Amino acid sequence: MNPRFAVYPGSFDPVTNGHLDILRRGLVVFDEVRVAVAYNQEKPSGLFTPAERVALLEEVTAQFGGRVSIDSFHGLLIDYCRRSGAGSIIRGLRAVADFEYEFQMTMMNRHLAPDIETVFLMADEQHFYTSSRLVKEVAALGGNVHGLVPSPLEQRLLAKVGRG
Ligand code: ADP
Repeated sequence: MNPRFAVYPGSFDPVTNGHLDILRRGLVVFDEVRVAVAYNQEKPSGLFTPAERVALLEEVTAQFGGRVSIDSFHGLLIDYCRRSGAGSIIRGLRAVADFEYEFQMTMMNRHLAPDIETVFLMADEQHFYTSSRLVKEVAALGGNVHGLVPSPLEQRLLAKVGRG
């Protein structure tokens, strides 16, 4: 278990500029970051399939070079960390809304794996209100998602919600 190797888990449905901001900051702190798409095998959900989310992440994180890798997993996050050899978890915090949920998750993960540390990072304030859920809603309702998601993804998001 390497504490300088962190997993950054999430649904990434799809990846947003807020996620990339957190990843960029994570690379300042950690030697290596694995972005891991969490999905539920029994109950498939989301706009993009896990395979599509991984492919999008691979494309837009290529700019960061070899210290970033992309994967997907189902099941317990701490089991995935152990399998991968990662000793740390990265999570992002927005305004106040994320705190309660993140606090609970972190305490539970700490209970299950006291040796794995969760580190919280905050994105730039321009991303404070960006979430995958909102971005999808805005796109579906005809709003402008420019600047919210990486530019190579804009057209694909619009096509996915039937506006392409
Ligand atoms: P979302 O909550 O946008 O659907 P995820 O579940 O994929 O996204 O989020 C993965 C992690 O990234 C979570 O810790 C979440 O709080 C964080 N995150 C997502 N968007 C932002 C953002 N705009 N600023 C900071 N952290 C973020």
